[in-house]
Amino acid sequence: IPLIGVLAVQGDVREHVVALATSGARTMTVRRPEEVAQVDALVIPGGESTTMDKLVRAFDLQAPLRERIAAGMPVYGSCAGMIMLADRIADARPDQQTLGGLDITVRRNAFGRQVDSFEEDLHIRELGGEPVRAVFIRAPWVEDAGESVKVLARVEHGPAAGRIVAARQGDLLVTSFHPEVTGDHRVHQFFVDIVRQHTATAHGATTGPAAP
Ligand code: GLN
Repeated sequence: IPLIGVLAVQGDVREHVVALATSGARTMTVRRPEEVAQVDALVIPGGESTTMDKLVRAFDLQAPLRERIAAGMPVYGSCAGMIMLADRIADARPDQQTLGGLDITVRRNAFGRQVDSFEEDLHIRELGGEPVRAVFIRAPWVEDAGESVKVLARVEHGPAAGRIVAARQGDLLVTSFHPEVTGDHRVHQFFVDIVRQHTATAHGATTGPAAP
């Protein structure tokens, strides 16, 4: 059973712990450098990306997290977590940094201040037939994405129609929206499956048959 950490410096940590646990993962919160080494994968929750960035650096987590991301650790980032995984921010605050890993440019608060939050049904092929109720809260969107990025969902209605709001590159997964608040845990199940496959492949390649 994979052990999935939830970065717990800021944001809605508890909801992700619950969603992961009901999706068949073991979980722990991660807020110290040595905890980064203990997990098979990580979730970066929503919150406020400038604050999260500051705390990640203050707690000496930036270097260990970047190292593990570069080494291929699966990571799922929601909303502010998506910003943290982006290689580029279109409108970064001065001195705002990200962990990076995903070849995307994100725009923060992209839907405009007057539409602080909204919900929309999204059709995501990878998650099966039923649409996903997507909750957007001061959400970013993906402004552009490199060739190795697979787009999983776009806004379907309104002035922002066509904007990318879910994407995957290798074992990095991001959504602009907050699936942890709806009780529909298919995004988390999808991520747990990515982690399981990653772990199986990694073990098969390096250590041969699993130890008893
Ligand atoms: N607007 C926030 C940011 O820029 C993200 C909002 C969220 O995570 N719900 O970090």
